[in-house]
Amino acid sequence: MRVLLVEDDHGVGGAIKDVLGARGHPVEWVTRGADALLRHRGADLVLLDLGLPDLSGLEVLRRLRRLASTPVLVLTAQGTHERDIVRGLRLGADDYLLKPVRMDELLARMEAVLRRTQHEGLPPAGRVQVNDIAIDLDTHLVTVAGAEVVLTKIEFEILAVLARKAGAAVSREQLLDEVWGDAYVAVSRTFDVHLSKLRKKLGQPSPLHNIRGFGYRLGT
Ligand code: CA
Repeated sequence: MRVLLVEDDHGVGGAIKDVLGARGHPVEWVTRGADALLRHRGADLVLLDLGLPDLSGLEVLRRLRRLASTPVLVLTAQGTHERDIVRGLRLGADDYLLKPVRMDELLARMEAVLRRTQHEGLPPAGRVQVNDIAIDLDTHLVTVAGAEVVLTKIEFEILAVLARKAGAAVSREQLLDEVWGDAYVAVSRTFDVHLSKLRKKLGQPSPLHNIRGFGYRLGT
C-alpha cells in the first residue's frame, strides 16, 4: 500500500519510513500539515501525527476529510489529551496509535484499517477471526480457542458489529444504534451489562478494548 506519512519528528518519521519501505509499502513523507493536504492524492492510507509545526493534526484531518475519504491512522504522543484522540476519531480518523509506535502493532493496525475500508459497502465476510476467537456472522457460531461459546442474541449482535470492523474503533453511539436502532437512548445502561457479560465470555486477555470517551475496538 502507498502511505502518506505526516510526521515532523525526524527520528520517528525515518524509522517508520524505513520499516514500511522494507515491507514493500512505498512511503511519501512530509513534515508539515499543509504539505499533507497537497500530497494526499494517490495514498492508500495516511499516517498523521497530531502535533505538527504549522497546522494541528486535527485541523489537517478536518480539511482532508472535505477532500478525500482516504483511511487515516492518527499517531499521538504520550500525554495527548484523550479528548484530542476522541475528536480525531469523530473527525473521521479510522484509528489511532500511541507513540512510541511499535512497528508490528503499526502494521497490524494499518492492515486492519485497510481491510475494513476496502470491504465497506460489500457484504461482510462470513467469518471473522480475532486472536483465538472465531465469529461466524452467518451461522452465529462463536468459538474461543475452539470451544463454542453460547451468546445471547444481543451479545452476538454487539459482537457482530465490532467484528465487522475488527481492528478499528467503533463509537458507542454506532454500536447502540446498530443493535437497538432509534431506541438506543433508553438502553444505554443495559448495554453496559450486555457488554460486560460478552467480555467475560470472550475470556482473557480481553480482545475488547475500551477507548475512553469514544467506544470500543475488537482485537489488535
Ligand atoms: Ca510531532
